[in-house]
Amino acid sequence: MVIVMKADLPRDSEELKQVIALAESYPGVTTRMHVVQGATRSLTELYLLGPTHALPAAPFEEFECVEKVVRITEKFRAIGRHGQLEAIGWEYNGVTFSQETLHVFPGVCAVDRRENVEDTFRALAGLGIVTTRAGAYKPRTSPYDFQGLGKECLPWLFELAGKYGIRVIAMEVTHESHIHEIRSALAASGNATGVMLQIGTRNAQNFELLKAVGAQSDMPVLFKRGMGIPLEESLNACEYVASGGNHRIVFGLRGMKTQLGDPHRNFVDFAHVPVVKRMTRMPVCIDPSHSVGRRVVAPDGILDILHVTAQAVIAGANMVLVDVHPRPAEALCDGPQALLLDELPYLMEDVAIARRAYEERTALVRRRAS
Ligand code: PEP
Ligand code: MN
Repeated sequence: MVIVMKADLPRDSEELKQVIALAESYPGVTTRMHVVQGATRSLTELYLLGPTHALPAAPFEEFECVEKVVRITEKFRAIGRHGQLEAIGWEYNGVTFSQETLHVFPGVCAVDRRENVEDTFRALAGLGIVTTRAGAYKPRTSPYDFQGLGKECLPWLFELAGKYGIRVIAMEVTHESHIHEIRSALAASGNATGVMLQIGTRNAQNFELLKAVGAQSDMPVLFKRGMGIPLEESLNACEYVASGGNHRIVFGLRGMKTQLGDPHRNFVDFAHVPVVKRMTRMPVCIDPSHSVGRRVVAPDGILDILHVTAQAVIAGANMVLVDVHPRPAEALCDGPQALLLDELPYLMEDVAIARRAYEERTALVRRRAS
């Protein structure tokens, strides 16, 4: 059971203490308080744990400070909406993430040379973009492929990020030790930037890694859907993160592996943007680069990567993780799917068109409802 308090209730409110005391007076029931700091207000939720099935809602609903009492279904206890819970979102390093916001994260698939990273960050800064991607630890299909520069590149990467005003870097971790390496390097840089810890599709069911990113809450998590497992299993994986205490999770769609082959590297699954938003409280990210996987152009002159991006944004996607590279021929990983730096302004304009269309669509449905 979750008791949702009225917005902006102080943490030390007397009435809140009384609600907690009442809950804990039932045999075996314990409570855990969860404060969500949204963009414009904070929301306090009190989770009642233990034998709560028979607990009556009415005595809690009588408190002035209680907005509603929601019964939690067994599924997706921590990330689910349970029909009534709001997706209020959260903030990290000055950037707000919710099911209403949209952020584009263009960046290199894998960090290689300093000059390539600097050229990329300069281009982003020129467009006012403060979010990017940069892989230091690369999970590769072959052990003979480039494995990423690892922790060696973090000091100069974070220094450059600070120099160009980058606030959040999505960076994959494949082992618990990487979390500590990133945290130490961030601290050594004077927290010049922030990192969103990315769980790659290949680690979607690496439960120990999921527990490790869930056990810390200084950095948010970008979870990428498992490419060959049901959606429900990927959502359960996020539940591992959230049940560990870290509720700042973005759910990433990146295409599914099928036996169907061409035309794309993976079968694009962006029709699930509204599905995940309906089932859970997580903002939803799409990765058009790893799903399409190549720079093919439709007869209308638009790259498939941009077509699928627009399709997801018009359906309400909240984050776009997209590969770019100043010199794709030099890229040590996924060069063939990278957009060019001079395509960045075009990408942003195209995304803005799709976003305006999405906003018009939600305005239309609100008008119909009123
Ligand atoms: C990536 O984003 O660099 C990546 C490897 O993605 P995925 O885990 O979706 O394949
Ligand atoms: Mn890649």
